[in-house]
Amino acid sequence: MPDVIVVGGGIIGLTAAVRLQEAGLDVVVWSKEPPERTVSSVAAAVWYPTRTEFNPRIRAWGLETYEEFTRQAAAGVPGLLIRQTRNVGNVDSLWWAPPGLSQGQEEVRFAAPLAEMSVYLPWLAARVSIERREVRSLDDALRDAPVVVNATGLAARELAGDPAVFPARGQIVLVRNPGIEESVRASGFYVHPRSADVVLGGTWDENEWDLTPDPEVRERILAGTAALVPALSGAEVLGDRVGLRPCRRGGPRVEREGSVVHAYGHGGAGMTLSWGSAAEITRLVQKVS
Ligand SMILES: Cc1cc2nc3c(=O)[nH]c(=O)nc-3n(C[C@H](O)[C@H](O)[C@H](O)COP(=O)(O)OP(=O)(O)OC[C@H]3O[C@@H](n4cnc5c(N)ncnc54)[C@H](O)[C@@H]3O)c2cc1C
Repeated sequence: MPDVIVVGGGIIGLTAAVRLQEAGLDVVVWSKEPPERTVSSVAAAVWYPTRTEFNPRIRAWGLETYEEFTRQAAAGVPGLLIRQTRNVGNVDSLWWAPPGLSQGQEEVRFAAPLAEMSVYLPWLAARVSIERREVRSLDDALRDAPVVVNATGLAARELAGDPAVFPARGQIVLVRNPGIEESVRASGFYVHPRSADVVLGGTWDENEWDLTPDPEVRERILAGTAALVPALSGAEVLGDRVGLRPCRRGGPRVEREGSVVHAYGHGGAGMTLSWGSAAEITRLVQKVS
């Protein structure tokens, strides 16, 4: 019997499993979907706490994650890039500011870690023992391990009986990278260049569950982002992606409840908060066992 079962193989479950294993625990991840089918795989996965409200705990997770991604990128972990980033507008509420952020009158600039999830998630998954398994309730996992981490994202709405959990649908467009490196975020649109493509976004539609890309939204994103970064005009479109961000009124829930450590509700900032959450999940698991 493992010491811990982590239910959920997205960015939150996988980073938690890695940290738990490093703490000397015997860990197994159960995931309904392979990493490439999770919401985490759709993420632009740029470090920035999108639509996340300040609280000291969240700030600490964000900064710990920033440091960890910076360290991993320097160590050559596959799928990680550091991109110079401009946030245009929104220069007032900078509680999240990472080291080295510079503030102008109309924009802030900082170096942002970016994870190419098609590479980074498999790299994480290869570090842990992962099984394709769907639970109908968290008790299914509690029968096989004394402690269970509930990192099921949006599915926690049912599995934890938490009505505060809701989806925020996000649609993005991928285009071939015409040679840009700077990432830009402005009201309504963002441009995140990766090694071969560029993520153009995006939408935030609360309580929308439809996973079908909307062609009108694609055209709006292409026009808005080309106005922001003219080098994108006419870039070859590679495809659309849609994902449902696992949001929660009141913010993420990383909390122990008996033999279960809940870890869900990271909304639009799961990558940004991942390694910091993972450290807290590990502390909570160690308290339980
Ligand atoms: C378009 C878009 C852009 C984004 N951009 C960014 C960004 O730039 N930066 C950032 O930080 N965040 C971004 N996000 C948000 C980020 O994707 C999420 O916060 C993050 O993926 C949440 O991770 P998670 O592990 O909690 O959930 P998920 O990735 O959804 O993983 C949940 C896991 O639980 C498993 N599961 C569910 N039910 C069961 C069950 N019954 N039994 C077993 N397993 C189960 C699933 O199979 C999956 O493995 C973006 C999201 C979208 C949609």
